[in-house]
Amino acid sequence: MTLYRGTFLDTPVAGALRALDGVLQVEDGVVVARGPAEDFPAADVDLRGGVVLPGLVDTHVHFPQVRAIGGLGMPLLDWLDECALPEEARLAAPDYAASVAAEFVDGLARAGTTTALVFGSHFAQAVDALFTEAARVGLRVTSGLVVSDRLLPPELLTSPERALDEGRALAERWHGVGRARYAVTPRFSLSCSTSMLESCASVLEAVPGAFFTSHVNENLAEVAAVADLHGGYVDSYDRFGLLGPASVLAHDVHPTDAELAVLGSRGTAVAHCPTSNAALGSGLFPLRRHRAAGVRVALGSDVGAGTGFCLLKEGLQAYFGQRLLGDEGEPLTPADLLHLATAAGADALGLPDVGHLSVGMRFDAVWVRPTDGCTLDVALRTAAGPDAALAKVFALAGPPDMAGVWVDGTRIRG
Ligand SMILES: [Zn+2]
Repeated sequence: MTLYRGTFLDTPVAGALRALDGVLQVEDGVVVARGPAEDFPAADVDLRGGVVLPGLVDTHVHFPQVRAIGGLGMPLLDWLDECALPEEARLAAPDYAASVAAEFVDGLARAGTTTALVFGSHFAQAVDALFTEAARVGLRVTSGLVVSDRLLPPELLTSPERALDEGRALAERWHGVGRARYAVTPRFSLSCSTSMLESCASVLEAVPGAFFTSHVNENLAEVAAVADLHGGYVDSYDRFGLLGPASVLAHDVHPTDAELAVLGSRGTAVAHCPTSNAALGSGLFPLRRHRAAGVRVALGSDVGAGTGFCLLKEGLQAYFGQRLLGDEGEPLTPADLLHLATAAGADALGLPDVGHLSVGMRFDAVWVRPTDGCTLDVALRTAAGPDAALAKVFALAGPPDMAGVWVDGTRIRG
C-alpha cells in the first residue's frame, strides 16, 4: 500500500474538473481510497508543489517518425514523400528499428503519456521491437503492423497474403500480453487495394479484442485521391466491416455529414491531432460537428507531422483551433482539454480503468512539478484555483516539467 499526498486534478465526468488537495491510497496498482489528508496516516510519497494528473492518453502517434519531427513547410502528400516515408523505410534494419523504438517509448514516457494507440511500422521485426521496448518500460501500448500495397515506395509495400500472415503472427505474440494489444493498421485506404482492406478485415476477425486504426479525411488533395480510388473515405473502411467501437480514425478534418453519421452509428472514435493539422495546413477540426453527430473524439500527437509527444501542447492547440473557427468553434475549458487528453482517450481505446483517478481505477499518473522559479512555477503558485492552475499547465508545461510518471502504481520515470 502506498499513500500519495498532492493536488490531484482529473475529469471523471466530461466538462467538470475535480480537484483533491489530499491523499490517494494505492494498493496493487489500484486507487482504493482518496480524501483529505487528515483522514489518512502520514503519506509515503509527497507530490506537493505542482499538480498530479491522470497519465496522458495519446490516440494517434507514429512510432517510426521520432527522427522526422520538424519537417515544416509541406502539405500532407509532399511531407509523406520527402520527410516521413524515407525515414519509415530505414526501419527495415533491425538495429535502426530498435534504436528508434527506444527513443520513441522514452519520448512518450518523458511527456507523461502512459497509454498510446501507436501507428506501428511497415516491418514486422520493427513492430516486435516497439512492443518489446514498451513492455520493458511499462507503457500501455496498442499497436500493429502498418500495411499498404500501392502508391508508397516499393520497400514499404507488402501483399495482402503476407500482411495477413505477419499480422496474425504479431497478434499471437503480443495481443493481450501484459499491457500490449494488437491494432490492425492499413496506412490509409489511399495506399491499399480492396484485397488489402479485405486482408485487414480477416486479421481483425481472427484476433478477438483487436483494435483497428487508420487515417481519414486529413487533407483535401488526399480526400480527392481516395474518392477517385474508392469513393467515400469513411466508406472505404466501413464497407469491409472495419469500423466499430474498437476503431480509431485519425484526423477527420474534412468529413461530410453523412460520414459523421456513419462514425457516430458505428461508435468509431476520431483521434484529433491539432498540431499536425496546423503544421501541414490540413485545416481546422470541426469538433462541434463531431459532437453533434455523437462521434467520440480524443487527442493524438501524430508526432512526425506534429511538434513532439506532449499531449498538453495538443490540448492547447485544440483550444487555439476552436477559437480560430469563431462561431463554428467549440469553446474549450481547461477541464475539456484535460478530459480530451485523458478520459476521452481511455474511452476511445476501450480502457475503462484508466483516464482518471477515482477509486477502483489503475494508478496511471503524471506529476507536473516545474523547477522552482520558472514561469510555470510562478503561475501555479499564484493561480486563483484549480481551473486556473490547469489552464496554466496547458499553456506552459512540457516534458521537462514531468517530475514523475506512474503506470499501474509503478513509477516508470522520475
Ligand atoms: Zn498519422
